[in-house]
Amino acid sequence: MSVLDLARPEIRALQAYASARMESATGNLLLNANESPWAPPGDAGLACHRYPEPQPLALLEALGLLYGVESNRLLIGRGSDEPIDLLLRAFCRAGQDAILIQTPVFGMYAVSARIQGAAVLEVPLAESFVLDTGAVLNALTPAVKLVFVCRPNNPTGQDVALADIVVLLRALNGRALVVVDEAYTEFADHGSAVSLLDHYDNLVVLRTLSKAWGLAGARIGCLLADARIVTLLRKIMSPYPLPRPCVELVLMALSEEEKTRTRQHIADLREQRELMRDVLVMLPGVRTVLPSQTNFLSVRFDDADVALSRLSMAGIVVRDVRHYARLGDTLRITIGTAAENARVLAALEGHRSFAQVCERSTDA
Ligand SMILES: *Cc1c(COP(=O)(O)O)cnc(C)c1O
Repeated sequence: MSVLDLARPEIRALQAYASARMESATGNLLLNANESPWAPPGDAGLACHRYPEPQPLALLEALGLLYGVESNRLLIGRGSDEPIDLLLRAFCRAGQDAILIQTPVFGMYAVSARIQGAAVLEVPLAESFVLDTGAVLNALTPAVKLVFVCRPNNPTGQDVALADIVVLLRALNGRALVVVDEAYTEFADHGSAVSLLDHYDNLVVLRTLSKAWGLAGARIGCLLADARIVTLLRKIMSPYPLPRPCVELVLMALSEEEKTRTRQHIADLREQRELMRDVLVMLPGVRTVLPSQTNFLSVRFDDADVALSRLSMAGIVVRDVRHYARLGDTLRITIGTAAENARVLAALEGHRSFAQVCERSTDA
């Protein structure tokens, strides 16, 4: 049995669209793609009048190096949201197949499933929002093709042990893919599940440049998986998903010098996260702060409405996650610079005027 047996048969059989740029282009006068001969204003050598490479070689190499995989196991998408959608479309038949998620969790898995017409099996995370492998395996039905694990979890911030991923991979071998979304893994103490790719062909890992790498606006994310899965998903991807300016920006961010700078930013954010937690737990009105391995803290308040209005009066926008089951008192606060975090704390303390808060943050 091959992992591809889990995919929709019509997708496996599909003849992919062959774009002009994918066909050989060895000449020096490109008249095969109906492009303009003139570069647009502000092009600065990017040659944006030309279609981009579908999966730019330089970017595949840089990301392969960053994540420690060969480039044939790498699919680069428009953020990691795109691979999530591609997985749904390739593996779930509308009205028949399903995904399984552990809640509360990032909303896109269920949204992509519903767009595709796939059912969503929701299994609550265990006490303290820990992944419950037993509950997942109990809830499993033959319809489930994708089991999503958010590691560390958004919106609760807690980690998932690699050993638990292995339990799922073994139990689901031949039955379903385990999709480990590591959007926040750079902020965690743990190592990436990428290390398991050699051993389990039903593992898919999602990584993104949107969070730790500071490139949310460039929309670049990756799927790492068995090369056959990558090939299958490329068939259903739009022909030119990666805009040249975005690719250039990411290549710059992945130079050795910039990587060092980003690693420093990650270390700073991790330190700020712990400092914030230490102060937040002492603030009146704060019930508790959930443990976090991410760049955010989910904070339980006695009265989240009061906290929200104090923050909003100070011009601070945080994520209201009270609509999630078991998070009825919780706001999710992203960790910013030291000055930004000080502004959050001052606003929550509630006895400083807006002006003083701003003053304090510009001083810092
Ligand atoms: C932010 C986020 C993503 C989406 O990231 P993009 O790469 O920007 O699409 C995926 N998964 C989780 C859990 C996230 O929080």
